[in-house]
Amino acid sequence: MNLKSLTLSRLGYSEYRPLQEKAIDALCAGQDVLLAAPTGGGKSLVYQSAGLIRQGVAVIVSPLLSLMSQQVDELTKKGIRAKFLNSTLNPGEQDDLIWALRHEHIDLLYISPEKLVQPSVIGFLHSFDISLFAIDEAHCISQWGSFFRPEYSQLGQLKDSFPDVPIIALTGTVDKDTINTIQTSLKLKDCQVLRSSFDRSNIKIHIAQKRKAKQQVLYFLHHEVPGQTGIIYCRSRKKTEEIADWLSQLGLPSLCYHAAMTEEDKRANHHTFTHQPGTIMVATTAYGMGIDIAHVRFVVHIDLPNNTESYFQEIGRAGRDGKPAKALLLYGLQDITQAQQLAAMQPFSADKELENMGKFFRVLESRGCRRQNLLAHFDERLPACDNCDRCLSNRSEQNVTIASQKLLSLIYHTKGVQPFSLLIQILLGKKTKSVLAANAETSPLFAKGKELTEVQWKAIIRHLIAFDYITLGTISAFTVHINEKSRSVLKGNTQIIIPNEQYYPTLHEDDLEI
Ligand code: ADP
Repeated sequence: MNLKSLTLSRLGYSEYRPLQEKAIDALCAGQDVLLAAPTGGGKSLVYQSAGLIRQGVAVIVSPLLSLMSQQVDELTKKGIRAKFLNSTLNPGEQDDLIWALRHEHIDLLYISPEKLVQPSVIGFLHSFDISLFAIDEAHCISQWGSFFRPEYSQLGQLKDSFPDVPIIALTGTVDKDTINTIQTSLKLKDCQVLRSSFDRSNIKIHIAQKRKAKQQVLYFLHHEVPGQTGIIYCRSRKKTEEIADWLSQLGLPSLCYHAAMTEEDKRANHHTFTHQPGTIMVATTAYGMGIDIAHVRFVVHIDLPNNTESYFQEIGRAGRDGKPAKALLLYGLQDITQAQQLAAMQPFSADKELENMGKFFRVLESRGCRRQNLLAHFDERLPACDNCDRCLSNRSEQNVTIASQKLLSLIYHTKGVQPFSLLIQILLGKKTKSVLAANAETSPLFAKGKELTEVQWKAIIRHLIAFDYITLGTISAFTVHINEKSRSVLKGNTQIIIPNEQYYPTLHEDDLEI
């Protein structure tokens, strides 16, 4: 048996995946590597193997303490000499660690970025052989991403201090800008860029229109994933608590997780979620990076993630064992208008965030297979998947050009200052309080859109926003504008075709048999 196969069996596996082998070979030849593979893509095995094969200590930079200790525990159980160096060690433990390093008793050293960039630590690392540096979650380097960690931007000094030690940067993203930033910041030389498919074909993707979201989630939990383990992502901390309480009261074992909880509570909830099958974790995006739990069967988004990357990473936490899993995203028109207005009000990096959000809206509103649309964002071309709501339905579409013209005319006539909800009421001919207050029942377009339902009108508006037929104002008050593209629709030069849509079904808590 050669060293590579021996290392593989020491780590408990029978064969390398092709990309893992390529990355390991490059590292073993002393080359820098940038490995982009989705969550669950098997990135850890690459630096662990190469670190064991090459002479010296492999230094692995990891942004999360929980991830470090989990990996070190697992490796130790396999008899591998792995340790971590971070702020949780007391002086005695640090001394033991230094002694072990000096006596070559450690093969893999996990270290937090804060520690690594301290001059004394860099100096100390010079006193022994380093086999490689692995920078996990390397997208934390990008200032534009939501995962930005300032210490990561100082990691470029590793190449200056250790020019002959190969570096592997690992990332769960393939965004071109991020990949370029990683290569430049880490000063990678003749870097071998390897990327695997981001497709996770075992995850059934369902994206649906939101209305009474809690009851929709209840329907999903009850009918689609009864008794299974999964994560529900919400935007706000308060909402995670409210939903976890509500589900627990309904007899569904649920916990919450968000950044404002104490470390102890976070650890306890993570532990329960990991060890008690059937638990539901209701969390903000704080729960995510580095979570490796094989039996997560579903991921629900009750609010809209910020961009395609985040969405894809988050659903990737389901089905890591390769068995069937489900992802449900519920969103509505309001999520789109609110998200866009919120992002526009952020003073810093708003342009990039808005651009990424816009791209995500287009992915969501595109026709055809969900997986094809999502993967196209990562420059991957796939055949239709047969495992998304679009492929599994009859995929009917409708030409809504005339309806779009009515809506755009109404926006023009109401000078873009009325909310979409009111415009829909006008088109549906509803004499609601707000319609009467705005004197809108006299509009020539009043009741001229009755051929469509509310859900269809919302879908049309989302489509028109996503593909820039309507421009949302970015001032705090609600305003919308028509533009050159809308004029082309109004003139009949552009056809608007959208998929047929329905609200995702609901289940009321009173109808639950507990
Ligand atoms: P990532 O770091 O890319 O998110 P991990 O390294 O945590 O992914 O690996 C994801 C899962 O795949 C883990 O459960 C791991 O045990 C498994 N895995 C990785 N490589 C192999 C392999 N060569 N053979 C079988 N299972 C593997």
